[in-house]
Amino acid sequence: MTKMKRRTFTHLAASAAGLSVLGFPMLARAKGANVVVIGGGFGGATAAKYLKRFDPSINVTMVEPAKSFVTCPFSNTVIGGLNPIGRITHGYDGLRKRGIKVVHDKAAAVNAAGRKVRLAGGATLSYDRLIVSPGIDFRWGAINGADASIAGVMPHAWQAGPQTVLLRRQLEAMPDGGVFVISPPVNPFRCPPGPGERISLVANYFKRSKPKSKIIVLDPKKKFSKQGLFKEGWAKLYGGMIDYRNLDNDGQVVRVDAGAMTLETNFGDMVKGDVVNFVPGQRAGKIAQSSGLADKTGWCPVDQLTFASRLLPNVHVIGDAAIAAPMPKSGFAASTQAKVCAAAVTALLSGRAVSKPKFVNTCYSLIAQDYGISVAMVYDFADGKIIKVKGSGGLSPSGASDAFHGQEADFARGWYDSITADIFG
Ligand SMILES: Cc1cc2nc3c(=O)[nH]c(=O)nc-3n(C[C@H](O)[C@H](O)[C@H](O)COP(=O)(O)OP(=O)(O)OC[C@H]3O[C@@H](n4cnc5c(N)ncnc54)[C@H](O)[C@@H]3O)c2cc1C
Repeated sequence: MTKMKRRTFTHLAASAAGLSVLGFPMLARAKGANVVVIGGGFGGATAAKYLKRFDPSINVTMVEPAKSFVTCPFSNTVIGGLNPIGRITHGYDGLRKRGIKVVHDKAAAVNAAGRKVRLAGGATLSYDRLIVSPGIDFRWGAINGADASIAGVMPHAWQAGPQTVLLRRQLEAMPDGGVFVISPPVNPFRCPPGPGERISLVANYFKRSKPKSKIIVLDPKKKFSKQGLFKEGWAKLYGGMIDYRNLDNDGQVVRVDAGAMTLETNFGDMVKGDVVNFVPGQRAGKIAQSSGLADKTGWCPVDQLTFASRLLPNVHVIGDAAIAAPMPKSGFAASTQAKVCAAAVTALLSGRAVSKPKFVNTCYSLIAQDYGISVAMVYDFADGKIIKVKGSGGLSPSGASDAFHGQEADFARGWYDSITADIFG
């Protein structure tokens, strides 16, 4: 990746999802069509809001079991004790005020032939088009001893909410001099820079409150997102506190023993932690599996122009669940895809041609409260697929000043506030 030239990036980003979606010409309307959205997270809530914005005549119903949404972005700041859980919790009143019907229930089944969604509570919703953004499910059982029951002892905290709070409480209860073990998942997974940020902000908490403590990372991969920048920050801020082991260096977990609080590695070591954050491998959310939207990879193949499922008619899949590579599985990506998908659905319902989209993604990570790093990219659509725009985006430069990293941390907070206001406001 080239180093980020911020002016080039900003210019490209402005012409990306922003203009192609927000400048969408409203020529014909979908005249009271029904669109159901499954999931009220980054993808689903954005899709619901933008459908209504693009065409107020569409009846939009969003199905989401939770009364409020706790974001994974910035959840590492809660785990590191920098923010309370309330800072990352958002209600759905903003969407209701815009005329979206928010139904707090769980989608239990999709009948694509009959264009119906059955809810766990027994009701049935009919649709002309369905948008599905259920996020991730875990591949429990892929590693010996790692079934769903261990999450109460070894929280994954890879879906924000009670798991985030549990991991924070465990860290608070851990004595100074204790060991925190974290095992990130195999690829592909939600938020590639997420483990690096979590390691950083736990180290930041230990440095402030439990300086004799250690962190052991057991990573089943050879390398991780923004590795050079994270390692540079760790060396600068946390000295020898972090013992990072990768696939070639004893990092692969082959067995989990939640009773003994140990992870056994492929080299035969038993690594014991006072707090263990085991993050399992992932796949598309359960409803995508049970309704036949996912293929044998566990993820959902889509037409990357409209996000229409390649497996079920009149159904679109966005966000982490969709195969949208080379875009990463991020909240920003999910939200950008949602806008593109909402524009495509609006066009399809009113018989207009679908516009060629552009996409943008930025992932900020905090290594400390005032030390941020980022990766950014603009994406185009060509030859039937999403492609990276050459020369756009890139990484924060290595060897940057403290002032630069302070500014990146401010950008991270600004990004969080603006994207959550855009989605839930
Ligand atoms: C630690 C961590 C840090 C992260 N940091 C960032 C970051 O800084 N920037 C960034 O861009 N991304 C970040 N991410 C990634 C981001 O959280 C995800 O990529 C994003 O949430 C994906 O959006 P989604 O709509 O696919 O899923 P989600 O946002 O998870 O939304 C899915 C929703 O669907 C609902 N749902 C599931 N099944 C059903 C059903 N059957 N019926 C009805 N509703 C259902 C769920 O309750 C949930 O609310 C981070 C992730 C983690 C784990």
